[in-house]
Amino acid sequence: MQIIIFGSPGVGKGTQAKILASRLGIAHISTGDILREAIKRETELGKKAKEIVEKGELVPDEIMAGIIRDALKDTRCNNGFILDGFPRTIDQAKLLDTIFHDLKIGEPFLVKLDADDDVIVARLSNRLVCSKCGNIIQKNEYKNDFVCPVCNSSDSYYKRKDDDEEVIKRRLKVYHDTTSQVFSYYTNRLRVIEIDGTRSIEVVTEGILSQIKKS
Ligand code: AMP
Repeated sequence: MQIIIFGSPGVGKGTQAKILASRLGIAHISTGDILREAIKRETELGKKAKEIVEKGELVPDEIMAGIIRDALKDTRCNNGFILDGFPRTIDQAKLLDTIFHDLKIGEPFLVKLDADDDVIVARLSNRLVCSKCGNIIQKNEYKNDFVCPVCNSSDSYYKRKDDDEEVIKRRLKVYHDTTSQVFSYYTNRLRVIEIDGTRSIEVVTEGILSQIKKS
């Protein structure tokens, strides 16, 4: 099974993608995670992407093309995948059409999560991420000696540089000006599932899974 999970930054794509990947036995491909890992390791890709990612802008399509081709060719995608954070431009969507065609992938699902910008700004400015496993919590859940409930590591939670309020506003502008057009591009091409992303994590997951089953 192949799924593209779509929606604004902070709507819960990463959280849902991790759960769905594990429930469906498919790979989770997050282009944001790939870029952050490259930045951390200071690879060539990381050096090119660092400033762009930290400013909340889009990494150029030519760079993203190489990343996505490599990721989808990997054997861990053999059983299917959920794409989180890609495509973010119409050109990326067209490239993905070609890759899907080459890989003989017929009818992927597009899962779109919705939430208003004020909910997103509140969520992102208060979120902390586990540097070991990527689990997300809100600041008020964090206490001294906090141990990650998913991977049991301690002292691993940090605030992403692009979760600064000004950068969040830029990321939302990029989403509304550019990325949201990708949704119109896909309507009528893919099997679309739209879900209210303000509901609880469990309700969103079950909503997605039940709609996938029905299709
Ligand atoms: P995310 O973790 O999906 O919110 O992505 C974090 C940042 O990585 C984005 O704000 C962009 O700077 C960059 N990024 C991730 N995916 C893409 C993409 N498909 N195209 C361009 N830039 C991307």
